[in-house]
Amino acid sequence: MEALRGVTVLEAIASGHLTRQRIVSLGFRDAGAWILLAEVFLGPTRHRKLQAQALDAAREGGLSLDALRVVDKHTRKLLPGAAVTEWELRAELCHLRGTVDEIDRAASARVRDLNRTVPDAENKAFAGRALKGGKNTDARGLRTATITLPERHMTAFLGRLLPTARRLRRDNPRLTYEQAMADALLAGGTGPSGPTPPVPLVVVPVPEWAQVLRREKDDTIFGLTDGTTMTGRELVEQVTAEHHYVGVYHPVEGPVDLYRSERTASPKQQKLLAAETLLCPTPVCTTSADDSQVHHLKAWKQGGNTNVAEMTIACQVHNARNDDDPDAPPRNGRLEREPGGVVFHPPDGGPPQRNRHPLRELSAMGLIAAGRA
Ligand SMILES: [Zn+2]
Repeated sequence: MEALRGVTVLEAIASGHLTRQRIVSLGFRDAGAWILLAEVFLGPTRHRKLQAQALDAAREGGLSLDALRVVDKHTRKLLPGAAVTEWELRAELCHLRGTVDEIDRAASARVRDLNRTVPDAENKAFAGRALKGGKNTDARGLRTATITLPERHMTAFLGRLLPTARRLRRDNPRLTYEQAMADALLAGGTGPSGPTPPVPLVVVPVPEWAQVLRREKDDTIFGLTDGTTMTGRELVEQVTAEHHYVGVYHPVEGPVDLYRSERTASPKQQKLLAAETLLCPTPVCTTSADDSQVHHLKAWKQGGNTNVAEMTIACQVHNARNDDDPDAPPRNGRLEREPGGVVFHPPDGGPPQRNRHPLRELSAMGLIAAGRA
């Protein structure tokens, strides 16, 4: 049997010979999509010449209806400001040949390449972010939602779930990867770093009625407005009883913790620092805190302390590239803690920069800043 030509079907729809009811009665469920496609390829447009070129190419290659749908789907993903117009692209993609899957892949790659060169592509693509579905129940009683994010955001999002999912699968090898990722998401997923059980970290701003007085042994002593004192442990119990990790953050100075004389940060300090920033604080970096290292803002050899106020999280690359000696000529720039969080000082002496990744709004300091705004 000769393959059904897509253009032939679209012409039948456009001329009114093939109606919606007829398509449905023939047993196809995509009538709506076919009709839209007929409007695109045969309906009125200001780009008649390119439309005709697209149709000629599709006819010549005998593109199927599914192939035309794939062409149109990718054409619509062209970002504004690309080097070609939508109709130029549609005509070009109609010259693709092969199976529907092959055309799908080639069209996707072509549009991705075009979009890469669009100025401010990332922000334009970000407008396409979405969380869809979740409203229809299937026969098993399940609902499905899909999330659409720019690739770097998705990588960061899944990266936050991965450590928990891996841990769950270690504990229960019968879990599939997808089940474990779902469990990680339900568990809050973005738990603290390190080989720890998936326990959520609760961010507690230092209450107005308490002030950091001093450090004592393994705890912080707070002075209360009624003239009494309280240990950090007691303060935390005051706020919440059922959580295992509670980080206390000062809105300006950042995490509150003990002075440490060891060079290596304790797991507790790592947890505080990871939740403080969620991602490496270097602008545009997307490495998650879980995949990062503890970085001494004042290098150990420069007399830095293993005190949370003098540390942050930084990815391996930015930890290594950091200009540790503030007196040496700047080469790559350096991270510094300033009121409200850790910032990056560029080597050209320009103003300090923050990592403005949207995920960081969920970091401890992001949440506290939002709570004060
Ligand atoms: Zn980094």
